[in-house]
Amino acid sequence: MPLLRGNLHAHTTFSDGVRSPALLVREYEALGYDFLAITDHEDHQNLVEPAYRRALDALESDLVLLRGIELNFAPLSQHVGRLVGERETLYVLNHPARYKLSVAETIGRIEMIRRAGWPVEAVEVTDTGLYRPLYDSPDMPVVRIATDDAHRPPHFGRAWVEVEASRDADSIIRAIRAGDFRIGFARP
Ligand SMILES: [Zn+2]
Repeated sequence: MPLLRGNLHAHTTFSDGVRSPALLVREYEALGYDFLAITDHEDHQNLVEPAYRRALDALESDLVLLRGIELNFAPLSQHVGRLVGERETLYVLNHPARYKLSVAETIGRIEMIRRAGWPVEAVEVTDTGLYRPLYDSPDMPVVRIATDDAHRPPHFGRAWVEVEASRDADSIIRAIRAGDFRIGFARP
């Protein structure tokens, strides 16, 4: 099984990123990645515009492209990533570091969000690609992933996951859920 490198959290000009979907894909192709999830913020009006769907549908790439969105869990104002394959869906508790949560508070949020119906199965140990080791704790009840949360060029390629999976979205999601991956970081 090959190791596939990818980023599971990224934004485009349709929310608060600075690259169009097509140019964001080029960035990660140039970095030699194997997969990318575009996860624009759900609360941006642009996401319901037909132009967004058209831009995503028009993407052509050798990258495996996962469909995604960054949700807002309103009771906590906590961002949650949702990644979708053909059959598989993965929910991720995003950047607890940004909310300055303790590990116990992070676990509490995961449990609350699960009770509300989003089955969170992963947590980010990064904040815009910077490693936040506090959250890389074996106490976490879910797998611990790294993403670069790409908004601007300094973020692109700063952190990733290398997944032992075949080249399709469902296999990638299943491997992450199973813990068959490692995290990686660019040199600062
Ligand atoms: Zn984000």
